[in-house]
Amino acid sequence: MRNYGSIRREVLDSSRWLAEHGYLGQLSSGGNISVRVPGEKIVAITPSGRSYFSLDLEDICVIDLDLNSIEGSLSPSIEAAMHVGVYQHRSDVNAVIHTHQPFTSTLAIINKPIPALFDEIAVEIGHEVEIIPYAFSGSPELVSNVTGKLGNACHCYLVQNHGALSLGADMQRAMRNSELLENVAQIYYHALATGEEIQKLPPAAIDYFSDMRKLRFK
Ligand code: 13P
Ligand code: ZN
Repeated sequence: MRNYGSIRREVLDSSRWLAEHGYLGQLSSGGNISVRVPGEKIVAITPSGRSYFSLDLEDICVIDLDLNSIEGSLSPSIEAAMHVGVYQHRSDVNAVIHTHQPFTSTLAIINKPIPALFDEIAVEIGHEVEIIPYAFSGSPELVSNVTGKLGNACHCYLVQNHGALSLGADMQRAMRNSELLENVAQIYYHALATGEEIQKLPPAAIDYFSDMRKLRFK
């Protein structure tokens, strides 16, 4: 049997960092993390309903794209089909992070997509953080609502009345996008609270960074 220790390690270490920094909850399990071996139909993903601080390497599930278990004795996240749906629709993505991070989740309950408010958001995340319409956690409807939005080529989404979805070419970039998303969500929330007009990036900047993204993430 092949040793999937390194991808399990990436998932475990990332989930611990995200839990420690308030993205997932500490005693509860709010969110799930996965990585795929580039070019392979194998995914390592967090198990369902476990505190991230109690997890060991062998608790991380290894599954194929049909959700069959390859390694690990725990049940994979109830959102495993959503993660697999992302990998099947986006060949540029090799890591998926779903969290209940607070400021992003706040915008997800007031139905506020986040415009690209800063250069680094336009470059790393894309022209907008769009809203994925609500469906029950773990449902096939949620999978199709997610996959229906992936064609915009962006790397972050709000999941209505639920949380956040951040993608990356690898785990490091997905983590960075998750943090960038929470930062911009926090700033946008405070800016909205002032009641002042929000200044958006000029359209020429959005076009410039969109072209840059096309070259970088093709
Ligand atoms: P899991 O613990 O099954 O991953 O579920 C957590 C979650 O965030 C559901 O949307
Ligand atoms: Zn969730």
